[in-house]
Amino acid sequence: MRALTLVKERQLEVLDIPAPAAPQAGEVQIRVRAVALNHIDVWGYRGMAFAKRKLPLVVGAEAAGEIAAVAPGVTRFKVGQPVAMYGALTCGTCPACREGRDNLCENVSGILGFHVDGFARELLNMPERLVIPVPDGVSARDAACAPIAFATVQHMLFDNAKLKPGESILVHAGGSGIGTVAIMMAKAIGCTVYTTVGDDSKIERVKALGADYAINYRKDRFEGEVRKLTKKKGVDVVFEHVGADTFNGSLLVLKRGGRLVTCGSTSGPTTTINLMQLFQQQYRIFGSFGATIKNTAESLDKMAAGMKPIIDTETPITNVADALARMESRQVFGKIIVNF
Ligand SMILES: [Zn+2]
Repeated sequence: MRALTLVKERQLEVLDIPAPAAPQAGEVQIRVRAVALNHIDVWGYRGMAFAKRKLPLVVGAEAAGEIAAVAPGVTRFKVGQPVAMYGALTCGTCPACREGRDNLCENVSGILGFHVDGFARELLNMPERLVIPVPDGVSARDAACAPIAFATVQHMLFDNAKLKPGESILVHAGGSGIGTVAIMMAKAIGCTVYTTVGDDSKIERVKALGADYAINYRKDRFEGEVRKLTKKKGVDVVFEHVGADTFNGSLLVLKRGGRLVTCGSTSGPTTTINLMQLFQQQYRIFGSFGATIKNTAESLDKMAAGMKPIIDTETPITNVADALARMESRQVFGKIIVNF
């Protein structure tokens, strides 16, 4: 069977590998239909010195497919059923996993497509615990965006930042995969949404998703614009994933007692914080990584109710290097999908 494999830094090849054996107790076998690309794939493609992993490695951290086989005793799934998959091999038995906080698992064996072989292959076996049914009316292409793009945002906005209806939020990089989702999820509960874009051509597109105000951060300082637009009050929540370039400005646009939630640092991992500002303004800062299995189910329910992911491009697996280059260039609007 085909598997999209990173053979060395910046070199992806479609290899022919053996199909998996029949699923063992507690497992299902999944036929992969669509893989969604993420920044973690770009990091993996570039090679990350600190990551514990061995090449060659099958890539793909976020995907959906259908059940191809089930082990005896598995009753939750049937052959042909559409599913999405959780992207980390968590233990299921530690206190965090038992509380449904799989992204805090104490014995995680790795993130698929990054530390261990990922989803960009025709068939794979997984513990049924990590497999999530896809509701009717959600395509494989859209479902492939649930486990990371949608679930990460669901976790950031609602489990961590506790975003409430009617609040105001600044979403950085509103045209990015997670930015588009954050705008839609915040707007869906009636928030006022401010967003940044790096290109005037994206302004109308983020407004169409529900952004009330869009700021081209290459032309105007977003800190000044948001303070002006909010009459110096600032916003309740900032959705951060840009990192060094924006983090301090993000704190500046928060209301007193405001919440900043971050899941990324694409522009650089280091910044300085004014501690007096932090405690006097009573900011709350949440680091957020990944999501829970429940967040994927919640995301799929939102898709079934009509919140569809924004797809930038769909590509065959032979063309993924170009797609990753497109992601690195930040020309993307929404998600890139690799079809199987
Ligand atoms: Zn665990």
